[in-house]
Amino acid sequence: MIYLDNAATTKPAQDVLDTFVKVNQDLYFNPNSPHQAGLQAEQLLQQAKVQIDRILGLENRYDIIFTSGATESNNMALKGAAYNRKPFADEIIVSVIEHPSVLEVMRHLEEEGFKLKYVNVTTEGKIDLEHLKSLMSSNVGLVTCMQVNNITGQEQPIAEIAQLLKDYPKAHFHVDAVQAIGKVPLTFNRVDSMSFSGHKFNGLKGQGLLLARNIHNLEPVIHGGGQEYGLRSGTVNLPIDIAIVKALKQAVQQRDALNSRLRQYNNDLRAFLQTFRGVKINSPVNSAPHILNVGFDGVKGEVLVNAFSKQNVMLSTTSACSSKRGHLNEVLLSMGVPESQIEGSIRISMGALTSEADIEGFKAAFEKVYEEMKELLKS
Ligand code: PLP
Repeated sequence: MIYLDNAATTKPAQDVLDTFVKVNQDLYFNPNSPHQAGLQAEQLLQQAKVQIDRILGLENRYDIIFTSGATESNNMALKGAAYNRKPFADEIIVSVIEHPSVLEVMRHLEEEGFKLKYVNVTTEGKIDLEHLKSLMSSNVGLVTCMQVNNITGQEQPIAEIAQLLKDYPKAHFHVDAVQAIGKVPLTFNRVDSMSFSGHKFNGLKGQGLLLARNIHNLEPVIHGGGQEYGLRSGTVNLPIDIAIVKALKQAVQQRDALNSRLRQYNNDLRAFLQTFRGVKINSPVNSAPHILNVGFDGVKGEVLVNAFSKQNVMLSTTSACSSKRGHLNEVLLSMGVPESQIEGSIRISMGALTSEADIEGFKAAFEKVYEEMKELLKS
């Protein structure tokens, strides 16, 4: 099988799985228990946080909260910050290119009375900084932006947004870094919170992180026994939390080498695909290298995904989350991609385990699929 759907999820690394099993076997204790074994578990939990701080170079600027994934981290940060600021700053700025785990939180907050403002996106799929500037005021309590878009791979100007927010101290700045970690450098300056999902970087599903600069600025959305600074009540899942550190360390250590390897594959694929009539690359040239969105004018994305699947190549239409919903992709729409090209778009996404042989295998499969479809394609 040629697996090119790494933006949806990745294969867990063997040592991450081994760590998960070993901690389950040897240290299954509750870190909140007062006995010796519980204390040992608590120590390990705290050591894991110190390690994460070092791996990411956080220099103690953030509290680290273990979560079940980025959906939970995004909910926790966005609702937590919005509720905290509601009495004095109830406006929120977001764009339509965010992941549903952000956009649906926003829609929920709007129903609760928050005022949402949508910032424009350029034809390159980037946040329009001038428009953002014009939307800012002292009533804005929350601004959220992903670092790398999960549909196109486009990188957002996080440092520039952070710089702009310097003049608005009431505004909490949240960054969804799910598709950025392990692929491109992260920006922490003036970022108040950041989300990650372990399974996107060869960790396990159900494993995530939230970094928060000031936990007192977040209202808890999960109530109970008060674990994780009172932000995430519930018995701590030590095996899953220790295992994510392993995955994170590898992802960060291998980042630059992986980035340049995937850049080569990306360039290679672009050069190859450009030679086919009716095939258009939707991902801007300077996007993160692991995601390549390609449009076929005249054939539906689902038909293409099935045709590739028959050739043993696994890829997706837009994103796994929205590909079953059957509506036009907002990210591509906001970039001005023609509707017929959006309907026929597929996402090729690579990861740490993608090899040159996979790329060559994809090309061979592509030629077969293209042969079947070419009569239907508009030029
Ligand atoms: N944010 C982005 C940019 C994503 O790509 C995803 C998953 O596809 C998420 C958030 C949600 O992650 P999870 O499904 O692991 O909670």
